[in-house]
Amino acid sequence: MNAGPLTRPDVPDPGARNRTDWPRLAARTLGVPAALLLSREADGSRVERPHGDPSLLGALRAGMDRAMASAEPQAAAGALAVPVRDASGTVLGALAIAEPGRAWKQPDLGLLMELAAGAAAELAARDAMTALRDSEERFRAMFEGAAIGVLVVTMDGRIVQTNAAYREMVRLGEKELHGLEFWKLNHPDDTDGNLSLFRDMAAGRRSSYRVEKRYLLPSGNTIWVHLAASAVRDGAGKPRFCVAMVENVTGRKAAEERLRHDALHDALTDLPNRTLFGTRLAQAAARTGDDGAPRPFAVVFLDLERFKLVTDSLGHLKGDELLRIVAARLLACVGPADTVARFGGDEFVLLLDGVGDAVEAARRAEQIQAALSAPVSLGGYEVFTSASIGVALSADGQGHPDELLRNADAAMYHARSLGAERFAVFTRSMHHESLRRLQLETDLRQAVRRGEFRLVYQPIVELATERTVGWEVLVRWHHPERGLVGPVEFIGVAEDTGLIVPLGRWVLREACRQLAAWEAEYPADDPRFVCVNLSARQFGDARLLQEVEAAVGEHGLRPGSLKLELTESTVMRDPDQAIPLLRRFRALGIPIYLDDFGTGYSSLSLLHQLPLDGLKIDRSFVQRADGTAVVQTIVALARSLGVAIVAEGIEEPAQFAALRAMGCEYGQGYLFARPMDPEQVPASLGRPIAVAAS
Ligand code: C2E
Ligand code: CA
Ligand code: CA
Repeated sequence: MNAGPLTRPDVPDPGARNRTDWPRLAARTLGVPAALLLSREADGSRVERPHGDPSLLGALRAGMDRAMASAEPQAAAGALAVPVRDASGTVLGALAIAEPGRAWKQPDLGLLMELAAGAAAELAARDAMTALRDSEERFRAMFEGAAIGVLVVTMDGRIVQTNAAYREMVRLGEKELHGLEFWKLNHPDDTDGNLSLFRDMAAGRRSSYRVEKRYLLPSGNTIWVHLAASAVRDGAGKPRFCVAMVENVTGRKAAEERLRHDALHDALTDLPNRTLFGTRLAQAAARTGDDGAPRPFAVVFLDLERFKLVTDSLGHLKGDELLRIVAARLLACVGPADTVARFGGDEFVLLLDGVGDAVEAARRAEQIQAALSAPVSLGGYEVFTSASIGVALSADGQGHPDELLRNADAAMYHARSLGAERFAVFTRSMHHESLRRLQLETDLRQAVRRGEFRLVYQPIVELATERTVGWEVLVRWHHPERGLVGPVEFIGVAEDTGLIVPLGRWVLREACRQLAAWEAEYPADDPRFVCVNLSARQFGDARLLQEVEAAVGEHGLRPGSLKLELTESTVMRDPDQAIPLLRRFRALGIPIYLDDFGTGYSSLSLLHQLPLDGLKIDRSFVQRADGTAVVQTIVALARSLGVAIVAEGIEEPAQFAALRAMGCEYGQGYLFARPMDPEQVPASLGRPIAVAAS
């Protein structure tokens, strides 16, 4: 056994010290020819140490057995024996002297007992030493063989002993570890707290501590350990060493870390989720600049356009891929102090540090839009995304951070209502707008059920004859409190909420029913028609075709009596999907008109492939003084495509005249008639519209 900290220096090493020859000492002291010491060893064996005349051994032994059994001195003819007892009275052996024929006196007994006390002290010390050796042996075996790492450190922090498990854990040998200050192994970030605990222990203020900390290994790897340290004190209670059990908990830490990460991040993009964003937002709100004033920031709400279209047409996997690409592009747009989060779906939210005014916000929003506008290649398709962006500024001094989020959301809605790829910075009025919108949504839900909608009919006029040939059907909402509400105000909301589907279904049936009623009551030679508007959401609804067929069939309408208007953007959004659907409408004898023509970005080559029956020139071209050239081009285009052409929004006789001169066939506008209630329609039937009167 090496002399190390486990060998307590205050315990004498029995090998280093000669045993006293107690029998010899007794014989000499008392002047007898023979003496014997008998002792019980720790293992139970008996050891005799005789001195002097061997023929007297028998007499010596006889007395001793009695002395040990009774724990009292025994005097017999020729022998005097006394028990050897330790401090607690336990009999450790016996000491006896013999001299045939001697009469023992009291002083003899006194001397022998004193010698026995000396022997007792020696035997007791030897027992203690054996016990200590055993326990040390056991501890050493445990120490070396332990699966857990153990190290012993002096109170000035130097490592003096380590076990195999510890050396394996830190990947260092005994030589490298010996004498090393233990904190050299600590990860620099974890050292301070750990050291102050150790100092408390060295000063005797605590006897143990437990910590979880990181080790930075020479390889550069970091491991997490759980460490339980306790002080080993000397007899005076002063800490002499620190023994620490060290367990590698890297695996558990990693699992914990994973769990915590997952709870705060979006699984698809690994961006912070709503919860973590909330924390960052609260931190940002509490942050101040060098001057002590609150540091400004902006919350940016972002809504991807055309995302649903990607998942609908290319599937969810491609949709996920797109979201990941968008996430990466957004991250590339921000700095280390900013946060990009995903709240689910195609909703991304950014926290931009230091953005203090609308000009800076606009610059950042434009950057983001530019980053998103580059095409994405997905499964062989070039997909274009863009975003509507709403911004709320902390510098506006809006109370709670949550309110900033709501405001950015409201600004985003506002941006979306302005058209594609817009952004808006929140203003107070948007708050009212978003409240109004919420109210509108609620009311709209009930309106469909309560039947608060009415249809109005705006004549479509053949320009050459000024006769009404059909009507565009336009929906109106008779709101119980607000009165008449126009479609511009609620169609968008109905689209967003999906309420457009039941509403659109009702419009279709009601328009067909109404036309059938007029045809029955006021028969005419020329077929008249109704034009019903379809929104993008309805066009994407799988049941649309069946519903149209049912509405026409139910009222026995002639082919061509029901026409559908689709905006250019609805069709051009995804032509590959639109074309087959359009073909099926054509097969059913339902003509399709392209509404608001000129405002979208139809490619001419595509236009040739679309099975269309008519174009409706948007009223912005009809009404613009310089719109003539555009209108002329569209009229020529319609002719080359062999489709009908309707000019919308004719308000002035001059516009009417110009269109007629250009060869535009049909027109619609306040000049002829405003949209009218169905009761007013019969009176206008069968006679030319009174244009001259306007
Ligand atoms: P739209 O399809 O372009 O309908 C024409 C709009 O122009 C109508 O507005 C009509 O009242 C208005 N208008 C007609 N002549 C003139 C004119 O000479 N001058 C001016 N300034 N405006 C004129 P309205 O009824 O407010 O409808 C607005 C939009 O709402 C429609 O635009 C259409 O996109 C949508 N909408 C209306 N009814 C329905 C419907 O039943 N379903 C769907 N999906 N959308 C509808
Ligand atoms: Ca229309
Ligand atoms: Ca239109």
